[in-house]
Amino acid sequence: MSRFLAKKYKMLDAYVPGEQPRDKKYIKLNTNEFPYPPAPDVIAAVNADVISDLRLYSDPTAKALKEALAKYYGVGAENVFVSNGSDESLNFAFACFFEDGVAFADLTYGFYSVFADLYGIDAKIIPLDKDFSIVPDDYIGLDRGAVIANPNAPTGKALPLSDIERIVASNPDRVIVVDEAYVDFGGESAIPLTKKYDNLLVCMTYSKSRGMAGARLGFAIGNADLIADLELMKYSTNPYNLDSLALRMGAAALTDASKAYYEEKVGEVIRVREETAKKLEVLGAEVLPSKANFLFVKLPNIAGGVAYQKLRERGILVRHFSKARIADYLRVSIGTADDMKAFINAVKQIIEV
Ligand code: PMP
Repeated sequence: MSRFLAKKYKMLDAYVPGEQPRDKKYIKLNTNEFPYPPAPDVIAAVNADVISDLRLYSDPTAKALKEALAKYYGVGAENVFVSNGSDESLNFAFACFFEDGVAFADLTYGFYSVFADLYGIDAKIIPLDKDFSIVPDDYIGLDRGAVIANPNAPTGKALPLSDIERIVASNPDRVIVVDEAYVDFGGESAIPLTKKYDNLLVCMTYSKSRGMAGARLGFAIGNADLIADLELMKYSTNPYNLDSLALRMGAAALTDASKAYYEEKVGEVIRVREETAKKLEVLGAEVLPSKANFLFVKLPNIAGGVAYQKLRERGILVRHFSKARIADYLRVSIGTADDMKAFINAVKQIIEV
């Protein structure tokens, strides 16, 4: 930290992303990436001509991508905001909507508390219940907005749409942000509710179910006035927030052929997830029911930090959080069937007593 850093940022505790190690080849099950490449149409969308066009600025209105997303999700283009990863949509949502404070779970996506600190927003932390579930009643009639990851991370547990609707309806003068980064792996999307409620913003990403984490593509869907507020933030910080390659790839990921490709691959991830969960249970692990592309797991007879390290030594990277309540759990992204076979074999080795 330099002596020039603004005082207000000196206490910031920045978000720590999962490792992206380059030292050796790991089976990477630590950042919930998709184990398959983007759809063939996405790969075909980038060629030498498109790269030559990089001399021009990208379209700040992102018109083609917004229209493609609008068509795909059955909303208007004015209901769509596109961003540099969904982190940027969340960032702008915190800046715009949570002046009176924000509520979120004690165990959820770590960036929420970073954004709250960044903007000096008062955060009300609502504990998950003993089964690691969000208790919908805790979010009824709040004195502030809220952000709910659904499915939640790192637990993988999801709330039914009826609970989300009850929460949104009970807070008509507060913005409720539903972070659906993992919804395609078994959750129910709240997008249809955005037509009925002007206080609901749904954030989504290409990073998980579309295999494009490196393209940094996210979007938010909601009432046109909420979207206009996010645009205000974008045009006040970074009007060209998406590069022209990402804009093209984003639209190409929504063609009929891409949709069929992703449905098949997402189905495979779900199948492998369920198979892996069963194998872990047979080994005596506690496994939370997951609607996401990861499992939250407590292995028998081994501390979380030790398990993390022993798996790492065997070339398998998972995510371990040191927070006391979950220190004995691991979050394990679902890879290919072969990745998960290797993971289960390594687990068998490390839990042998
Ligand atoms: N929300 C949740 C719940 C996440 O786990 C993540 C990824 N770590 C994000 C949002 C952000 O993802 P991205 O910026 O890649 O879209």
